Amino acid sequence: MSAQEYDVIVIGAGPVGENLADRAVRGGLSVVIVESELVGGECSYWACMPSKALLRGAAALRAARDVAGAREAVTGSLDVAATLKRRDDMTHEWNDSSQVEWLQNADIALVRGHGRITGQREVTVRGADESSTVIRARHAVAVCTGSAALLPDIPGLADAAPWTSREATSAQEVPSSLAILGGGVVGSEMATAYAALGSTVTLIARSGLLGSMEPFAGEAVAKALAEAGVDVRTGVDVERVTREGEVVLTLSDGGEVRAAEVLVAIGRTPRTHDLGLDAVGLEPGAWLDVDDTMRVRGVDWLYAAGDVNHRALLTHQGKYQARAAGDVIAARANGADVDDAPWGRHVATADHSAVPQVTFTDPEVASVGHTEASARAAGIDIRVLDYDLSWVAGASTYADHYAGQARAIVDEQRRVLIGATFVGPEVAELLHSATIAVVGEVPIERLWHAVPSYPTVSEVWLRWLEAYGR
Ligand SMILES: Cc1cc2nc3c(=O)[nH]c(=O)nc-3n(C[C@H](O)[C@H](O)[C@H](O)COP(=O)(O)OP(=O)(O)OC[C@H]3O[C@@H](n4cnc5c(N)ncnc54)[C@H](O)[C@@H]3O)c2cc1C
Repeated sequence: MSAQEYDVIVIGAGPVGENLADRAVRGGLSVVIVESELVGGECSYWACMPSKALLRGAAALRAARDVAGAREAVTGSLDVAATLKRRDDMTHEWNDSSQVEWLQNADIALVRGHGRITGQREVTVRGADESSTVIRARHAVAVCTGSAALLPDIPGLADAAPWTSREATSAQEVPSSLAILGGGVVGSEMATAYAALGSTVTLIARSGLLGSMEPFAGEAVAKALAEAGVDVRTGVDVERVTREGEVVLTLSDGGEVRAAEVLVAIGRTPRTHDLGLDAVGLEPGAWLDVDDTMRVRGVDWLYAAGDVNHRALLTHQGKYQARAAGDVIAARANGADVDDAPWGRHVATADHSAVPQVTFTDPEVASVGHTEASARAAGIDIRVLDYDLSWVAGASTYADHYAGQARAIVDEQRRVLIGATFVGPEVAELLHSATIAVVGEVPIERLWHAVPSYPTVSEVWLRWLEAYGR
């Protein structure tokens, strides 16, 4: 057994752990990061990057097919092998050497193995070779261990070799048919991807699709999936699963679905089961409850950022938390001022009211802040502005049959935007304008002076203002 000492120990080298470590190093601290699998985490190898790589080719093809002139040039169909190859390139064939090099350049030490908290500011790492390394932190331990796919307790499911998002994003062959449990972001994106790749897809959801978003978003995605040949079954549960060569799912409405593979995408569970949380009086397997500086409540040297704190399960939001946490750990270690007032440097205030999210389905869904339902549930006096995106000039130049919808939520007391949702082709790139308006609390009166270029889809901003009135 060997022992080491650093200012900060980060457990988990996903995007969040990497960023937190980097900020702490920039703050003058020595940092070690512990990683049990691949440096880069879920996002790089089994989530954001491979999923978007699987979706992008078909999206580009759809865009070209909706413009006369380009349409005539598209004479073939999606090249599945080339799509999978591009995905493999994007994940560096699940090799993390370039990210390890980045750690070295950033002056972050790496210990490979499974980290567990074994005492006050102490982490013990078990290597693949059963070696054991004890690391002590002078100032802080940051848990950035992310989340894993949640498998529901459905009779027969565990024995049916179900896919999770890992298998769906790393598959080397496209199954002839795929049943997907869950109509959230992962289920909807993978239904879009696999239908385009040639699978016969059945999407099974307990309620509508993309349930936490504006209802018109899930409705548009369900309609497009059905048009793409996906069998979308909403309002049903899976009661039993068996594998007889293919997988057989028995549904609560008496129906049955047969498929070559079944993908479970019903939610996430924190990777805290085997982390030694009991050593510091916390519950193993629970999400970690943190304050706005990402400090775990009740343990003043322990921090948790990214998926594991359950504030917003998104890479960009976790990296935002990591910047705040890395900086505040350095500030506290150096005895410097801590800027933890709302919107200060050391807090992740936006997690509460301004989380942007893009769902890369067809059509894309881009949202930030409140929906109408969440604003009303919060008791905010709001006005809802709806606009059909196909009516702006930019939509007609973009495509021959553009379809899209946008909704803004205005706080009537403060006269500022508190939420926006865009549904349509490539609306992802519209989203940051809304994020800035929400975070900046830009008054409606001032938004009139932010003039969208003609002819772009961004002219929806002007239409919203015209509908709102001066
Ligand atoms: C299919 C899919 C698509 C997604 N697409 C997007 C997207 O387009 N955009 C977006 O913003 N988000 C997306 N997400 C969410 C995104 O992947 C996560 O929010 C992000 O990966 C969280 O980063 P993290 O660093 O907190 O955790 P992770 O990326 O999960 O990294 C955690 C790391 O900790 C390591 N680890 C865990 N326990 C230990 C331990 N005890 N010891 C040592 N190491 C340990 C793990 O091996 C892992 O490398 C997607 C998720 C899925 C499932």
